Amino acid sequence: MDKMKIVILGAGYGGLRALKGLQKKHLNAEITLVNKNEYHYEATYLHEVASGANPPERISFAIKDVVDTKQTTFIQDTVIKVNKDDKTVELDKTGLISYDYLIFALGFESESFGITGVDEYALPMVDINTAVAIKEHMHRQFAQYEATKDDALLSIVVCGAGFTSIEYLGELTQQMPKLIKQYNLPADKIQLTCIEAMPTLLPMFVEKLSTYGIQKLKDRGVKFLVGTPIKEVTADTVIYEENEERKSIKAKTIVWTTGVKGSSVVGGSGFEERRGRVMVEADLTAPGYPEVFIIGDCSAVMNPENNRPYPTTAQIALKQADAAVANLVAKVNNQPIVPFTFKSQGSVCSIGNNEAIGEVLGANLKGYPASMMKKVIEDRSLSQTGGLKIMFSKGRFDLYH
Ligand code: FAD
Repeated sequence: MDKMKIVILGAGYGGLRALKGLQKKHLNAEITLVNKNEYHYEATYLHEVASGANPPERISFAIKDVVDTKQTTFIQDTVIKVNKDDKTVELDKTGLISYDYLIFALGFESESFGITGVDEYALPMVDINTAVAIKEHMHRQFAQYEATKDDALLSIVVCGAGFTSIEYLGELTQQMPKLIKQYNLPADKIQLTCIEAMPTLLPMFVEKLSTYGIQKLKDRGVKFLVGTPIKEVTADTVIYEENEERKSIKAKTIVWTTGVKGSSVVGGSGFEERRGRVMVEADLTAPGYPEVFIIGDCSAVMNPENNRPYPTTAQIALKQADAAVANLVAKVNNQPIVPFTFKSQGSVCSIGNNEAIGEVLGANLKGYPASMMKKVIEDRSLSQTGGLKIMFSKGRFDLYH
């Protein structure tokens, strides 16, 4: 009997977790994993690379280390399009590959919300390359200061105050003393500004926690502009609106972390989508395509408690990967599928290496204990994508190394 062909697109949280699950099932199948890089990166640590707190190697590992070559072929290539009616995938260099079952897990892209100048001048943080670009850009600005004394070189604007922005500012403020020394900068001229359109900061946490986290950043010199939507970005200016008045702030480093959308391959392949996300069926397949599972940031699943899609997180991507594998196996064996359900375990937002705020299983945490909890959660997720060996070599706790 011919082997069934299973293709996984993307080796992020969802894709790698699905691969590990499928390999354990030992199906009579040829598994193909496609990813644009030869490495997996933990997207939840990208802010550490962007701030310079850690090098890219610290948050990534080789995909070959989790590939069982007896069952799986890894193709390093870029996915252009899924031809869902022909059951083929178009890859940039390899051409067409076919599938019986597809697990689509291509993750997220930056969302500019159509604001003028964002694509040209603001720096997104969506993968290793963009995170490295932020760090290198900032270093170039600092390096020019001594000769030019242009204060805009010392001004950094972080656009948006969601998780990514706050975690980035947490690490960046901890790196600042080192950078000031390295480039001989006047500390009083460093300007860190975070601009948020919404009227409240970190609304997912109880007020006591969000106030604690924001105050920590203010104490480290971050200025917050809240309820001030950004209207335009130029090479050295961010223009925003405050009380219906247009105002601007000069900055040579403008980091764009206002939000993300699902991969543009979703729309390019003709799936019904909103901001790159497909509202999937209960078994996590695309409507009308029972052999195409869509997981992670490219999918949307309704939370019945508030009738809104769950936020896109690594946590839900990992759970979806397990559910997609279980339902794929059920379909192959003509067994009933199990509808996907999700219960968030909570979330923790870091404010640098040893500080965090969070809610885990109903308990509110702040400071060092929250930071420890975040490290435990991150290592658990690393073990789920990479396995124990990778967790011990790349994990958060220094005692492993
Ligand atoms: P990803 O993990 O993004 O993986 C997608 C993979 O597909 C990548 O390897 C990418 O290279 C590859 N790829 C993309 N396009 C192509 C293509 N065209 N061809 C080939 N390969 C391609 N979530 C949490 O749960 N907790 C947190 O604390 C948290 N913190 C975060 C902090 C930051 C700074 C950021 C940026 C995100 C954070 N998130 C957090 C969100 C989390 O990272 C995402 O929800 C998660 O990465 C989504 O997983 P995924 O499998 O859908 O995609």
